[in-house]
Amino acid sequence: GASVRPLVAGNWKMNGLAAQLAEAQAVRDAIAKAAPKADVMLCPPATLLAQMAWTVKGSNVLLGGQDCHAEAAGAFTGDISAEMLADAGARAVIVGHSERRALHGELDRQVRAKAAAAHRAGLAAIVCVGETAGERAAGLTEEVVRRQLAGSLPDAATAANTVVAYEPVWAIGTGLTPTVADVARVHAAIRAALTDRFGGEGRGMRILYGGSVKPSNAKELLAINDVNGALVGGASLKAADFLGILAFYG
Ligand code: PEP
Repeated sequence: GASVRPLVAGNWKMNGLAAQLAEAQAVRDAIAKAAPKADVMLCPPATLLAQMAWTVKGSNVLLGGQDCHAEAAGAFTGDISAEMLADAGARAVIVGHSERRALHGELDRQVRAKAAAAHRAGLAAIVCVGETAGERAAGLTEEVVRRQLAGSLPDAATAANTVVAYEPVWAIGTGLTPTVADVARVHAAIRAALTDRFGGEGRGMRILYGGSVKPSNAKELLAINDVNGALVGGASLKAADFLGILAFYG
């Protein structure tokens, strides 16, 4: 609805050395001037999080992690907890990204545990769902998305602590996007599932679209009913592209 403040979040994935902090600086400076009517978030690799927190300190740029372990601490070599992300300056964490689901075998129940861990640590969980090309061809898009939502969202999810990102797997990093009608249909189905389960909280949860969002298609995608912002991969690496998307919100 119109009362939901949009969120545009950039997912840098496994990209970015220290020199890339200049892009975060450019985003920081630009939104200080433009004051877009949206929340703005960058999700750098964990190695840059603490440094980026200094870069954006005192600005309106929010930070997020890209994944977290479900436990708060312990013998989990190589993993990072939600508490650690919060300690480094994150306000949110992406969980269940399709690359985690596909390349690390993450299942809905594990994604739900990670989302619950985010909430425990005081972070918002950005929970990703989306169908593969095969599922779409089989007409299973809404069924898949509903099943992923049912399995991946904790019962305690609220409008303040949970964001849903609809990311068709076949649209991620491919330059392909669904039609406006397809995005509208899936976002409406997600909104219905959220309000069925969470009532008023579900009505207030942000539903982001993700998958090949760029300045040239942002306007038509972000104007769709129940699209409350975007999760942006490739186009978030360059401040100029990311700001070109944000321009939709003034
Ligand atoms: C993503 O990975 O979340 C994503 C949307 O990637 P891209 O924008 O590059 O398609």
